[in-house]
Amino acid sequence: MKQGIAIVTGASRGIGKEILTSLVQSGHKVIGTATTTNGAAAISEMIGREKSGYVLDLSDRESIVRLVQSIKQDHSEPISYLVNNAGITQDNLMLRMKPDQWMNVLNVNLTGTFHLTQLLLKDMLKARWGRIVNISSIVGSIGNPGQVNYAASKAGLEAMTRCLAAEVAARQITVNAVLPGYIQSDMSEQISEGHKEKVLEHIAMKRFGSPADVAHAVEFLLSDGAAYMTGQRIVVDGGMYML
Ligand code: NAP
Repeated sequence: MKQGIAIVTGASRGIGKEILTSLVQSGHKVIGTATTTNGAAAISEMIGREKSGYVLDLSDRESIVRLVQSIKQDHSEPISYLVNNAGITQDNLMLRMKPDQWMNVLNVNLTGTFHLTQLLLKDMLKARWGRIVNISSIVGSIGNPGQVNYAASKAGLEAMTRCLAAEVAARQITVNAVLPGYIQSDMSEQISEGHKEKVLEHIAMKRFGSPADVAHAVEFLLSDGAAYMTGQRIVVDGGMYML
């Protein structure tokens, strides 16, 4: 395992929190982000180390710049691992979708991820080593009514994954995507019980995934074992979408 800090965005809850915990357990020095100071403090407390939790709002470029500056001030190690996990939904049918709903989801899920990755990439290029994992969604591939904004953001994230992977592969920086299906978290709790039953019919394993199911795939992509994998997508959906 390479030395260096691992950053997990959106680590206060759900899938990000599980990724954070699993990386701490496997011996990484990890930093997690939340959108509030309370959330950031809770991350530091959970890890048991000061300056482990930071505030980040991916819709605000200033907040992204501040995050990177603060981490560099507070920690001497390079940032070697980046897990772009934070994401939001603001669902609506196409005809009813407000311009703000479109922009908010694209800004956080895609544009914010672009800014943060760009800011952290310079040091990885200098170090000639890095691991980037983007958390996408199967919805970016199979589509879902009411999620044109979300699906477009995730499909864009996967396209970005492939382009960046091709740009930086020669510097031993890998860039991959994990595509969760339906995972139990606050985000999937927004789905109605009726719709959940319909979704279950399409999941071969007949259960929703757990955040740990996703964290295992992320941990693998960050590990030495995945050194020769880049520009790839790992689907974690219990057999819902078979490529
Ligand atoms: P979640 O439980 O809703 O948690 C979202 C996380 O993102 C929280 O830590 C939240 O911070 C953070 N966040 C929200 N808005 C942000 C912003 N503007 N800037 C920075 N961080 C922000 O979501 P989840 O289910 O764990 O999903 C995690 C990732 O997996 C997302 O990218 C999602 O699209 C993807 N995914 C989830 C599922 C699923 O079924 N759950 C399926 C496919 C893909 P606060 O706690 O401070 O609000």
